[in-house]
Amino acid sequence: MIYLACKNCHWKISSFLIQEIPIKEELTQTDFTLENGNLYIHLSQSKQLTYRTKGDMNYGCCGYNAEGPLNLLCPCCQIPVAREVSDCCSDHYIRVPQETIQTITVPLAWQEKLFYLENSLKLPTQTMNELMTWMRWNPKELKKQIQRLSA
Ligand SMILES: [Zn+2]
Ligand SMILES: [Zn+2]
Repeated sequence: MIYLACKNCHWKISSFLIQEIPIKEELTQTDFTLENGNLYIHLSQSKQLTYRTKGDMNYGCCGYNAEGPLNLLCPCCQIPVAREVSDCCSDHYIRVPQETIQTITVPLAWQEKLFYLENSLKLPTQTMNELMTWMRWNPKELKKQIQRLSA
């Protein structure tokens, strides 16, 4: 299990991703595809991000087309991190260039509990980010926090 973090500020910009799938297959919310230096994730992940409003964002007839600049920003530091593609003339997905993000692997011991906290208890993004900070720098504190939140 992995998640994507902003390379600039480490904010968690995707929900937890479980399975890597080949490029031609349809993405579900927990899938990702890796090809040519880009990660592809499900369109619903855009709710973790902020829309860029300035400049020409290459809008198609009903959504963003595949060409054009990164149109989704890190909600924490406002740096462009991804492009939403959501027009009817193409598949729908979010393309994340690998140079804008870090791919963080969740240690096996924490996967089930953290997935539960995010998807079943639906903890706020802020809280999940605090947990990710503990996970990376202070696993003992993470254990305490998980026990507290699960109680
Ligand atoms: Zn950021
Ligand atoms: Zn369209």
